[in-house]
Amino acid sequence: MSSNERRTPRDATSLAPGQMDASGLCIGCGACMAQSDAGAMRLDCYGQFKPTTSRNPRGFAQLCPFSPDAWNEDDIARERFASVRHRDPYIGRYEAAYVGYVRERSFRINGSSGGMASWTAAALLEENLVDGVAHVVPRCEDSKPLFHYRISRTAEDIRAGAKSRYYPVELSGVIDEMRRRPGRYAVVGIPCFIKALHLLCRQDPLLRERLAFTLGLFCGHMKSARFVESIAWQLGERIEAVADIDFRLKDTRRPANWYTAHLVLKDGSTRSRDWWHLADGDWGAGFFQNAACNFCDDVVAETADISFGDAWVEPYASDGRGTNVVVVRSPQLRRLVDRARNEGRLELQEVDSAFVVRTQAAGFRQRREGLAFRLSLPRPGVTPKKRVAPQRTGYARRVAIYWLRSLVSAQSHRVFRLAKILNWPAVYIRWASTMLALYQGVTYSRGWIGKLVCRIWPETAGSGKPSSDDEPGA
Ligand SMILES: Cc1cc2nc3c(=O)[nH]c(=O)nc-3n(C[C@H](O)[C@H](O)[C@H](O)COP(=O)(O)OP(=O)(O)OC[C@H]3O[C@@H](n4cnc5c(N)ncnc54)[C@H](O)[C@@H]3O)c2cc1C
Ligand code: SF4
Repeated sequence: MSSNERRTPRDATSLAPGQMDASGLCIGCGACMAQSDAGAMRLDCYGQFKPTTSRNPRGFAQLCPFSPDAWNEDDIARERFASVRHRDPYIGRYEAAYVGYVRERSFRINGSSGGMASWTAAALLEENLVDGVAHVVPRCEDSKPLFHYRISRTAEDIRAGAKSRYYPVELSGVIDEMRRRPGRYAVVGIPCFIKALHLLCRQDPLLRERLAFTLGLFCGHMKSARFVESIAWQLGERIEAVADIDFRLKDTRRPANWYTAHLVLKDGSTRSRDWWHLADGDWGAGFFQNAACNFCDDVVAETADISFGDAWVEPYASDGRGTNVVVVRSPQLRRLVDRARNEGRLELQEVDSAFVVRTQAAGFRQRREGLAFRLSLPRPGVTPKKRVAPQRTGYARRVAIYWLRSLVSAQSHRVFRLAKILNWPAVYIRWASTMLALYQGVTYSRGWIGKLVCRIWPETAGSGKPSSDDEPGA
């Protein structure tokens, strides 16, 4: 990958969180607030975490994961994994990669995928390699938001926190706890959060000493808190009535990629709906996507000691029990995993990087070709510096897909807000249904829009026509 050398002329020391937010480059990780004496992370009017501070946090330009002045994923991985066995332009440096699932106990059935993320976190505690694991769990108190980062100190608490949360969370609270309470810690997080932690460790020797392992989750994009509210609306409920949500209720009789959203209401009743019957349930369309995800080039958490995703290729995608792809970068974790494989506790087969990339084909298109296209467009504010060079793609239909995705992700926040202010859910739901039909017509040639699009752009396979897997998986 080449480096994008374009820079906004400015003094790096003057870069501030507010500038990153105004430039659509704040993911809401909370790393800057962990480094600041004033301010806190707050949910904004669109249901996304943002830093509130009038002061510039120490070393901000070098710690914000989207800052053009910070180390990139290659720099961090080069320092952390200097002597690993493999390097790949898509999945970075790694020791070994696997496909499979956890055999022992109920990790697989309780996990979103094959249960490997919770198994690894629990194994680190049980083997006394860490004293606590920061991960994302439901909030027990009757207050918003629904999920938050917590440090679990027992394997039972780790197991209780299994499952993927497509919901905004932030790290400042758990970073604070890691600093206050001595011990060794592991943190589970999406790629930009893990990157932010390693950037923070470069400035903070205490944190560097205490952060023993990072466990990454592959990532399609981060959603705002409005996604759950929209699901509740579409199931005839208000968010105030919702106690909990399982974004991916497991049904072993159905393919793993047929997602079902399952709400538990405060009165104890439940409501469910398959994602494809939701107006905004097509992951690839980008509803409620954080703007910063448009400028991410790390799908597989390249800076984490180990990372986990879903095996979105057959025969695994059809197996409703769930199957992980796992990329191991730390030799110590490789030994831990291999020992459990040999003891029959994990069912994992070694795979090559091409296999891992195939499982995330749509995510990589969006974060390589799509990113190159987005970088080629003029935009105000801070210019992101990525490992992908700006480039206009040659195929009009692919450009249309990338453009539509950006439009849906930006407008969904605003239209939902308007519907909320008007107290009129249909305003959003009708808009979302229309945008979905347009997106699916252009992307999958679906419906009358699809027929029209095929007449305008009659591309053949391999010439830029979108493939059936053009939906970055969650
Ligand atoms: C926002 C998001 C986007 C994702 N996009 C993709 C994708 O495009 N492709 C893909 O293959 N996989 C993606 N994943 C990862 C996938 O959903 C599974 O989390 C992963 O396969 C691990 O499954 P598991 O069964 O091993 O984990 P589990 O055993 O279910 O454990 C999951 C662990 O992750 C923690 N966790 C849950 N949500 C979050 C969060 N938001 N931030 C930090 N920690 C969290 C839980 O507390 C738990 O410890 C995404 C995950 C998230 C949160
Ligand atoms: S991305 Fe993280 S570090 Fe950067 S401004 Fe936002 S909250 Fe702060």
